[in-house]
Amino acid sequence: QRPLLEVTDLVKHYAVRGGVLRRRVGTVHAVDGVSFSVARGETLGLVGESGCGKSTVARSVLRLVEPSSGAIKLNGTDITGLSKAEMRPHRRSMQIVFQDPFASLNPRMTAGDIVGEPLSVHGLATGRAQQERVAELFAQVGLRPDQMKNYPHQFSGGQRQRICIARALSLGPSLIVCDEPVSALDVSIQAQVINLLIDLQRKNDFSYLFIAHDLAVVAHISHRVAVMYLGRIVEIADKTELFANPRHPYTQALLASVPVADPKAKRLAPMVDGDVPSPINPPSGCAFHTRCRYVMDRCKVERPALVEAGEGHQVACWLNDGTGRPE
Ligand code: SF4
Ligand code: MG
Repeated sequence: QRPLLEVTDLVKHYAVRGGVLRRRVGTVHAVDGVSFSVARGETLGLVGESGCGKSTVARSVLRLVEPSSGAIKLNGTDITGLSKAEMRPHRRSMQIVFQDPFASLNPRMTAGDIVGEPLSVHGLATGRAQQERVAELFAQVGLRPDQMKNYPHQFSGGQRQRICIARALSLGPSLIVCDEPVSALDVSIQAQVINLLIDLQRKNDFSYLFIAHDLAVVAHISHRVAVMYLGRIVEIADKTELFANPRHPYTQALLASVPVADPKAKRLAPMVDGDVPSPINPPSGCAFHTRCRYVMDRCKVERPALVEAGEGHQVACWLNDGTGRPE
């Protein structure tokens, strides 16, 4: 069966201009050749430090940002060149939940109107039928129907994110892109929202592209995980495989920084040192070479491709080119 979403060689570069003449002084490599797929009913986690291009991937998939090149196939149709009108049927099947639930809710609309709006826009339900559908959606996300008449400021942060989730669900999407959906919430609320998302997927069978900088959050909800660094995917594998057998030095460092339940458990590698380099004119070769403890001469000049390192496990690192995994 073909994947629901197939992203091939996605690139998004921006020109950086400076000086009075606004000359091009550099190029931001926000996304630099990213490929992945998401199956029906699957959750793919996309993890990486802030500025690594995760959100740009999310926005490109939804066509909120135009990629510089690459293909984005939804149900086998390349949607990258489609006009607004041609996009319309696809818009229904892809929804997004943003990080900041307050900023993405119109403060002058009631929660019920916010959730019902997509139904009106797409001409699916009006009046009483819409009210009933919205009440159902409220119940699905754990809100009470009498809260439909309240305004966003009358809800807590977690409840506001539930409103956003209900709105995303309203059109019966096949893909929901979640861009850091719990990062702005209290830690005590995060698990509730994540568990709600998992529960909704069980009942509705849609796919998630789930983006976060927190590996623990991604691990909980994802079936597979892709690790991004400076606009590229450096490793992608089944969640269990990635945690048991991380091959990329960057993934190893990220995992080492996740608190382990057993304090005696062996740490895989020291936490990664230093900041992420600027995505403007990023490092040559392997972009991680400026921070990698295993760096070799070759890493500084040649860019390692994402290659198969095991079943469904791909990694972009010269150490995996026949020389095995770093110990
Ligand atoms: Fe480190 Fe080289 Fe592997 Fe990059 S390719 S992660 S620099 S060992
Ligand atoms: Mg972001």
